[in-house]
Parts: sequence; structure tokens; C-alpha cells
Amino acid sequence: MSGYNNDLLKAALNKLSIEYDDKAIEKVDIFYKMLIEKNKVMNLTSITDHDDFITKHIIDSLLPACHISFNDRQAVIDVGTGAGFPGIPLKIFFPDLNITLLDSLNKRLLFLNDVIKELDLNDIKTVHGRAEDIAKNPEYREKYDTGVSRAVAGMSSLSELCIPFIKKDGKFVFYKSKESDNEINESVKAVEILGGKIQDIFNVDLYGTDIVRKIVVVKKTKNTPNKYPRKAGTPLRDPL
Ligand code: SAM
Repeated sequence: MSGYNNDLLKAALNKLSIEYDDKAIEKVDIFYKMLIEKNKVMNLTSITDHDDFITKHIIDSLLPACHISFNDRQAVIDVGTGAGFPGIPLKIFFPDLNITLLDSLNKRLLFLNDVIKELDLNDIKTVHGRAEDIAKNPEYREKYDTGVSRAVAGMSSLSELCIPFIKKDGKFVFYKSKESDNEINESVKAVEILGGKIQDIFNVDLYGTDIVRKIVVVKKTKNTPNKYPRKAGTPLRDPL
């Protein structure tokens, strides 16, 4: 027994029709404990209250599962994973996924390596580097069925960091806020240049809050031209 009240988590999972067992709930508890402990010595998150962690980190990470299936064995990359969101919650509740957690800040990844070990997760790894550089590496370029990214950059810049990782016919899932309509509209050209097409935009209520999350799904229809992403820093400074 962890001592945490997991009624909120269980209610939200039921609402999202996500299956779980006691082991998955226990993994969320261990992840929370590790995050809070490490957060004392390293800046990992401003969300430390248990209920907030459950809603704003765990449940928020899982929201695309309302509309997208994560049940099969697909290769997923989480670009700018930070303290492991959305990648770690997705892996806990959809264990068949093969996940790469990418970030440019190595100390966060060292923390995530400990989390992966403690939670006994398989088929998940961390990769250190800037997305602009890693996406040029043939080991990672156009190798993923699905990509996810939350709170990293505006849609146009982020598209250049993310879409090059996705295989043709794969998809990238952007976690955006309710207020991001303009940002999404302005990214249409960039998405197209990179070989994608905005396929769906879903508004999903974040259980237990009045927050509405916008989930933007980009389908990769063509290969990304070789010149993208441009060199590190350029996509953020000068979005397509
Ligand atoms: N996705 C996490 C979340 O939602 O809690 C972390 C968000 S944090 C605000 C942004 C993260 O993106 C940071 O950990 C940062 O190091 C990483 N990041 C920013 N630019 C990046 C880049 N070009 N390549 C890889 N990681 C990047």
C-alpha cells in the first residue's frame, strides 16, 4: 500500500476507458515519490501536489488515448520529454509501446533512467540531444510510427523538431491548449513543408479540472525534405 489516495486516478482512467491493474497504479505512486524527491535538488516540475500531479501530469499525458489507439506495439518518440511527460504515463498504461524519450537536458534523462529502472519498464530508452541534431541521424530519422510532444515550443517550430522523426503514414500528436487556434492555423504551411497534414483536432476535457486540452494530430503524408530540420536553434528563432 502506497498511502496515496488513488480514487481520482482510477475515476479518470475509467472515464477515459483506459484499462489498468494494481501494478500500473503502484508505478504511478513510485514515479510520484521519485519526482517529488528529485525535485528537491533539481528543477523537474512546478506541480507537486498529489492531485495536481495525477490530473495535470498523468491524466493529461493520457488524453490522446480518447481518440488514438496506443494498444499495439508501435514505436513512439516523446520530443522534449522533460521529467517524462507524456512518455512515462503512456508507457505505464500502454506497456506494448516502444518508447524513446528525447531531451536536450541530460540531467533530466539521468533521472528518467532511474525511473525506468525502478518501474521495471522495458522497451523504453532515453536519448540525449537536440531534436534538430538527432532527427538528422539515420537511426532516428523517419523511424517512428507516432510522436508526442507537450509544452516544448509553438506548433510551427515544434513541427520542424518533431515531424522529421515520423515514418510516412505515421502521425504526430501535439498537446496544445484551448487558446492555441491561431498558433495551429499559422502552422499549416510549416506542417505541409515538413511532409505532414493536420488530420484532426480534438478538444478533450481534463478530468477533475476546467481545463480543455486541444490534441492536434498531424498525419505524415510525404517524406520530410532532407534539409529539415535546419540547424539547432533555427526552428525556434525563425519558424517556417
Ligand atoms: N514535455 C514535458 C512536460 O510536458 O512536462 C517537458 C516540458 S519542458 C517545458 C520542455 C522540455 O523540452 C525541456 O526538458 C527541454 O530541455 C526540452 N527541449 C527544448 N528544446 C529542445 C530541443 N530542441 N530538443 C530536445 N529537447 C528540447
